[in-house]
Amino acid sequence: MNLRPVFALLAAGILAGAAPPLLSGPVQHAAAHKELASPPMACGSGAALSINASSVRQGGLLLAQLTSKAPVTSVHAKWDTQDISFWQSGASGGTSTRGQVWRAFVPVDLEKPSGDYALKIEMQPQEGQPAPCQLTIHVTTGKFATESLKVAPQFVEPNPEQLARAKAEQQRLHEIYGTVTPEKLWRGKFRVPLTGVTSGANFGRRRVLNGQASSPHTGVDFPAPTGAPVHAAQAGRVVLAEPLYFAGNTVLIDHGLGVYTLYGHLSEISVKVGDAVAAGAILGKVGATGRVTGPHLHWGLVIDGARVNALQIVSLPLI
Ligand SMILES: [Zn+2]
Repeated sequence: MNLRPVFALLAAGILAGAAPPLLSGPVQHAAAHKELASPPMACGSGAALSINASSVRQGGLLLAQLTSKAPVTSVHAKWDTQDISFWQSGASGGTSTRGQVWRAFVPVDLEKPSGDYALKIEMQPQEGQPAPCQLTIHVTTGKFATESLKVAPQFVEPNPEQLARAKAEQQRLHEIYGTVTPEKLWRGKFRVPLTGVTSGANFGRRRVLNGQASSPHTGVDFPAPTGAPVHAAQAGRVVLAEPLYFAGNTVLIDHGLGVYTLYGHLSEISVKVGDAVAAGAILGKVGATGRVTGPHLHWGLVIDGARVNALQIVSLPLI
């Protein structure tokens, strides 16, 4: 078996590889997208579904909103073929004189082919029949940077033990991301995990190693000195806290409802699996563990299995 393509995929797919981690991709900011919101769609009587943009790039993140004058007991939703979770939003459980507000993330994987996809929902009012409705969302290409690297073969060929370890870790992460904790553990807005930093780089960057295409870079890299404290982007539960082959010392937080954030290359980890962490809690320190050339923080966001640009969640008006 020729191991090189598999390794190249793993090397670039999970996290940073051997290239300089910070300077090659476009800098991305945690600023709100200026897109046109689509008009609300009626969902039975007295209810409407809307979304904050009708067009989104690969790796983007949208917020859907359902408002209903009458009480709603549940909302089932599918984005293309993926189930997504609505939560009841706002103060006092989202019920006010205006009725109820429900929200959901609509995550676009960074490799989802461009095209039109349906967001279909079915809400169950407290009284009466379930009411279905749907919206169409247009996905455009992410225009990610591509870089071609010529590296010595030993950097893209693992030994069998390294390959087995990297594959097993990737499989574990996939299984974790496929698990949806039914409670919403976060409350309010998400923050960038480093203090005083608002921009990062490299999300979605494609790499070609020795002429072979490899998987895209799935997180945002932030420049930071070794030892800088790394904070939880929001409240959640620690589901992984250990060294990984590519990501080095890694913390993974489950925020509930299929939302996970990952913090990689740490020099120290200060939490353990099972810990409940508050928003802003210190998870560890910036470092250069795993396959990197210098200290930085790799921050990943996966929602409902889709790899999205973590900076996008920071700018969403979550209540
Ligand atoms: Zn990275």
